[in-house]
Amino acid sequence: MTENQRLRRVVIVGGGTAGWMTAAALGRFLKDGYTQVTLVESEAIGTVGVGESTIPQINIFNRMLGLDENDFVKKTKATFKLAIEFRDWKQIGHTYHHPFGPYGVDMEGVSFHAYWLRQHAMGLSDDLGEFSLQTIGARLDKFMRPNGQPNSPLGTIAYAFHFDAGLYAKFLREYAEARGIVRQEGKIASVQQDGLNGHVTSITLESGQVIEGDLFIDCSGFRGLLIEQTLKAGYEDWSHWLPNDRAVAVPCESGGSISPVTRATARPAGWQWRIPLQHRIGNGYAYSSQHISEDEATAYLLNNLDGAPIIDPFTLKFTAGRRKKSWDKNVVAIGLSAGFMEPLESQSIHLIQVGISRLLAHFPDRNFRQPDIDRYNRTMTFEYEKIRDFLILHYKATERSDTPYWDYLREMPIPDYLADKMALFKGSGRIFRENEELFNDTSWFAVFVGQGIMPEGHDPMADTMDDKLFLARMAEIKSVIAKSAEVMPGHFEFIKANCDAMA
Ligand code: FAD
Repeated sequence: MTENQRLRRVVIVGGGTAGWMTAAALGRFLKDGYTQVTLVESEAIGTVGVGESTIPQINIFNRMLGLDENDFVKKTKATFKLAIEFRDWKQIGHTYHHPFGPYGVDMEGVSFHAYWLRQHAMGLSDDLGEFSLQTIGARLDKFMRPNGQPNSPLGTIAYAFHFDAGLYAKFLREYAEARGIVRQEGKIASVQQDGLNGHVTSITLESGQVIEGDLFIDCSGFRGLLIEQTLKAGYEDWSHWLPNDRAVAVPCESGGSISPVTRATARPAGWQWRIPLQHRIGNGYAYSSQHISEDEATAYLLNNLDGAPIIDPFTLKFTAGRRKKSWDKNVVAIGLSAGFMEPLESQSIHLIQVGISRLLAHFPDRNFRQPDIDRYNRTMTFEYEKIRDFLILHYKATERSDTPYWDYLREMPIPDYLADKMALFKGSGRIFRENEELFNDTSWFAVFVGQGIMPEGHDPMADTMDDKLFLARMAEIKSVIAKSAEVMPGHFEFIKANCDAMA
């Protein structure tokens, strides 16, 4: 690459979670003045600020930044997360967990899931959760980090975080500014494009200040200031599969113990989240405006809190879907500007992370070569679509028939990929992870079984072990997990001892 092909100026538009995560990563990797990075944000516009529950992949991002985890937890008033607890999804009154980390252990090269199904077929319907250390930890409000012990479930505990989104952005801002990222306050009033190739050349703030750039990263949220309002990349609407289009949110005071679990409770026209932090609980009701009014949803939420509301409830509007091209010309959309699916599996911050790592892997020079851009878009489409289908499963596989909302979801046609995956599981109990899709076979198994889909058969390879040995091994696995859980400290005690933000 010649000197004049090098990107000299990168402009990040937006200072929400997406903007500051991107800035932190660029600050970490674009060293020694290789490229000047400016982040523009407007305090008057503000951020969405409710994305507070994560999945274990965030640990990869944190390690990439070289963060001290206890410092990060303290500064964001975070708690730990071992699972999502789904209440009332299969039927009202039914609960299951989607844990991080595997169930049991594979034996003789055969998946543990097949052995569990074999046991189930024998009429020994053991609770699946008892084969998952994370599920037991979630049920008992226990937590510890993996202790590295080989051959013990304690050696590989997978976990994520609940954190305060505002404090997370602040934390990353400090990190990014310390690495040379320049923050510019101001509202963008207009966008200028090259008359020949349509590339964005600069943005102009209301103050009249002009900021020029070679690469623009659009982290402007739902509005997609550059990717949509300027470049008209187009939006694929998935609301016929994911009809929730509003969320009313309100934080409340902490009540009771701090559990290492995000709770998702199905409601008459959507679902309610509960995210416990060290200093408060994040709550919201994601709902379909076709099926319930804003006033009703708000009242429902306020009647179902564990503590007094800290501020007035506020409502966010969205359309499930994704930008048809999240990279177009010299603009890359990351975060809500690239698409949005309701946070049922806490996947949005992960999609920001994927957008950043793919951008780094396809980092352009001024030639902006189309094969790189096409590949970026292709791989991001794959990520979004596979996550979408996993989310749809939660709705399709319900037995609820108490409201028109659930009737619609139970009966709706589904994407082919999901239909194939469900058919395969319903037959032989098999699940295959396609091309490193985000949610692996454990996740799919947890939701299939949790929502009551039991297959006709199971992998015959699981029948090759004789009954006595098989039952002894299953009992041993369960017992090892139960004993491991006994050693885990309480989640609250763990935080107090290691990363107490309230001290
Ligand atoms: P925003 O937070 O909207 O930030 C946009 C930025 O652009 C702001 O800084 C704004 O000032 C700036 N901006 C916009 N226009 C202009 C302009 N004209 N001039 C200057 N600046 C401008 N994700 C999870 O992973 N887990 C969750 O539990 C979760 N829960 C969610 C619940 C709900 C109801 C919603 C809606 C989202 C949730 N998410 C969750 C998603 C998560 O909140 C977002 O992915 C994340 O906050 C990223 O948002 P963003 O930075 O893309 O956009």
